[in-house]
Amino acid sequence: MTSPVWHPFTQHGLNEPIPQVARGEGAVLWTGDGRRVIDAISSWWVTTHGHGHPRIMAAIADQAQRLDQVIFAGWTHEPAETLARGLVDIMPPALAHVFFSDSGSTAVEVALKMALGFWANTGHARDRIVVMEDSYHGDTIGGMSVGARGVFNRPYAPLLFDVDTLPFPVPGAEQATLDALTRLARSPVPPAALIVEPLVLGAGGMRFYPAWVLAEMRAICARADILFIADEVMTGWGRTGTLLACEQAGVVPDILCLSKGLTGGAMPLAVTMATSAIFEAHRSTDRARMFFHSSSYTANPIACAAANANLAIWRDEPVRGRIDMLAQAQARHLEALRDQPAITNIRQMGTIAALDFAGEGTGYLSDLAPRLLAFFAARNVLLRPLGDTVYVMPPYCIDADDLAAVYDAIDEAVTTFGR
Ligand SMILES: *Cc1c(COP(=O)(O)O)cnc(C)c1O
Repeated sequence: MTSPVWHPFTQHGLNEPIPQVARGEGAVLWTGDGRRVIDAISSWWVTTHGHGHPRIMAAIADQAQRLDQVIFAGWTHEPAETLARGLVDIMPPALAHVFFSDSGSTAVEVALKMALGFWANTGHARDRIVVMEDSYHGDTIGGMSVGARGVFNRPYAPLLFDVDTLPFPVPGAEQATLDALTRLARSPVPPAALIVEPLVLGAGGMRFYPAWVLAEMRAICARADILFIADEVMTGWGRTGTLLACEQAGVVPDILCLSKGLTGGAMPLAVTMATSAIFEAHRSTDRARMFFHSSSYTANPIACAAANANLAIWRDEPVRGRIDMLAQAQARHLEALRDQPAITNIRQMGTIAALDFAGEGTGYLSDLAPRLLAFFAARNVLLRPLGDTVYVMPPYCIDADDLAAVYDAIDEAVTTFGR
């Protein structure tokens, strides 16, 4: 019996097996046929405290008894009010306003519209967006427009808008990135905004760049009044070792996008946080200047309740301690792989560990990736390589045995596939 489900990023013509997951607990998923699978990529980067965290589950169940959903244009509710205040408390103080949406992609769309709205409402003709080479900001038309162009979006290229692209700051050539931004900042009409993934390009292959480059980019933007948008959809909520990656560079953005770990990974929710300058540019008695954006499920109360539980967990559980322990454990496992000639570019930032299989280099469609995926799945480990890059990004609660099992599988893969 074939399923009518059309899966994301899946080539159905290859008939690759699609396991059915029945249950999740901590860093472990259980399939319908009873397999215990270690979730080594946090279910695509969303699950921070583990599957089924009791406080998040209780918050969802409790909120579901009271209010499931309500229009958010001109109406409000307690979970959203509490969450907005909680976010303003925990995030950099300049980010005083919280706009809700429902995915990372929409958080990015909202950020771009806020930036353009700011310039339009303050009477300036700035509308160009600057991006970094190899970035990923989502799969909507706007998200793809500010992200890397390639096999993922070639058919849609006619729909994508033009952007200015900075070279990725490769080690030793970081200045070229900064010079390119400076040139744009000095053009007769400077860009409206720069959007970046701080410190880590996730979907672009877990590529890292140093905090001082992020800080310099922010400084150049500040001098030229270019709005600085930090897309922390992946890097936020402790992934890079700090609550936000921007913290490591002492950077406060004008606009901040958060999603994945916002509810601990339990419910779809996103926020775009903005400075008062951006909010005030839209506030007026003129209805034509309001921020024209909404989606049906904006600030869904059940999702907001899950996010409030996430904030409570950050406030009173030793989350930072768990992150530090996971980071140290990742470092020890990576160290043990260092003398393997078949792998290169071993790297780590906080809870994220990554390595490349040497001598492949055919990008996302490398035929190594699906072979590795199947290899890991056969060992009950959920790892989803990006081309020839294998990365480990587990929930913070993963225990030592499960993490060791993940690295045993990687070790075996190196022996099997390494050249
Ligand atoms: C995942 C991701 C997005 C898109 O988020 P979705 O919730 O999948 O729409 C945007 N930006 C970054 C940096 C991401 O990692």
